[in-house]
Amino acid sequence: MSIDYDVIVVGAGPAGVPAAIKAAEKGVKTLLIERNETIMAKKPCGEATSMGTFKDLGIDPKPYIVLHKVIPRVVAPNGKYFDIDVAETYSINKTMYLQELALKAAEMGAHIRVREPVTAVSRDGDVMKVKTKNGVYRCRVVIGADGYHSIVAKSMGVRERSEPIPTVIYLMANVRLEDPDIAYFYLGSEVAPKGYAWIFPKSDKVAEVGIGVRGGNAKDYLDKFVKMHRDELGDAQVIDYRGAPVPIGGLISKPYGDGYILVGDAAGTVMPLTGAGMHPSGVAGLVAGETAAEAVLSGDTSERALGRWVEKYEDPWGKKIRRSLKAMRFLENLSDDDLNKLADVLNPDDIVKIANGEDVLGVVRRLLKVPGIAYRLAKAIVS
Ligand SMILES: Cc1cc2nc3c(=O)[nH]c(=O)nc-3n(C[C@H](O)[C@H](O)[C@H](O)COP(=O)(O)OP(=O)(O)OC[C@H]3O[C@@H](n4cnc5c(N)ncnc54)[C@H](O)[C@@H]3O)c2cc1C
Repeated sequence: MSIDYDVIVVGAGPAGVPAAIKAAEKGVKTLLIERNETIMAKKPCGEATSMGTFKDLGIDPKPYIVLHKVIPRVVAPNGKYFDIDVAETYSINKTMYLQELALKAAEMGAHIRVREPVTAVSRDGDVMKVKTKNGVYRCRVVIGADGYHSIVAKSMGVRERSEPIPTVIYLMANVRLEDPDIAYFYLGSEVAPKGYAWIFPKSDKVAEVGIGVRGGNAKDYLDKFVKMHRDELGDAQVIDYRGAPVPIGGLISKPYGDGYILVGDAAGTVMPLTGAGMHPSGVAGLVAGETAAEAVLSGDTSERALGRWVEKYEDPWGKKIRRSLKAMRFLENLSDDDLNKLADVLNPDDIVKIANGEDVLGVVRRLLKVPGIAYRLAKAIVS
């Protein structure tokens, strides 16, 4: 049976566009299909990421993409806070970021189609069929980068999904912020049980105010949070209100099969403790695109060949996600009192490393010398 493309990537988000870049760069005929009318950040997102994202994705942090540097401020339940100025974190314009990536995909030779939702994917021998309102495209490998409610996963019978945390955001205008370069993260059972609330400034008077909670209604908690912050948010108006799940349960057990790969939110490539997905999903997209291209070129698009993407992703990203998940599992059961105690012993460097699952052994060694809650956290991470 003739084919139209070697690789079709479904979804032009932070995972899908890099997948298309890499597949096309490797010399296979690639199509990137997006349901939205524009390649854009339609799903809500804090739009904060590190400089490492640009480095790993191979694009310049141009002024129209990077808005400003932010200093994450973590606020413990008792109000004690510390600023994490060791992390190179930036507030970005995610739409411009995705469009810059799309430019690269186009330059590499990928075809891009917008306003074309994929409605089903099926397999016929070693040919994959991707159905849209415009007809059926035939290809060798489909990369499902179509988000948490992936139609590719559903069509391929993949039922497993990474555990979600429901989130809700308000974009608020006329906020009063002490310093627009500080991005606030609030912890505690009163504020956001098993999650956190945030205020991410977009400019000096506009900020995204959001929350992720488990075991409660996120919108109710967000409204309560806004009321609690009358000084900063009392005069502000909501100019955008959206919600979406963030997969924080780690990578699903088998994000691939004969003729397909799942990547990004569809597969759970998100840092569990922070919910940051742009960087890990971007790298996952590159790895998936490369693996798909290699499979096509070798003439073997079986699940054995496509499963190699997970092996390639394992070091360091798979490991980082698992460590971050372990830390999250420990922290989610702590009382506010224990969280306050932890805030007394952790330093900003520890927090960045634990949250991102990076270089945790040094942190663990230090914490094992501190009796009590820090010792228990260290044990949980290395267990
Ligand atoms: C409230 C919130 C705040 C967040 N804040 C941050 C943050 O500050 N920093 C960070 O790094 N991460 C953050 N994240 C996580 C991050 O947004 C995601 O992990 C990341 O966007 C995942 O990328 P993705 O490409 O896998 O999926 P998505 O971003 O969901 O993109 C999927 C794409 O596929 C398209 N699509 C879906 N179905 C179809 C179809 N049938 N046919 C064609 N196209 C389709 C969609 O339109 C979309 O363009 C946040 C998430 C939420 C919900």
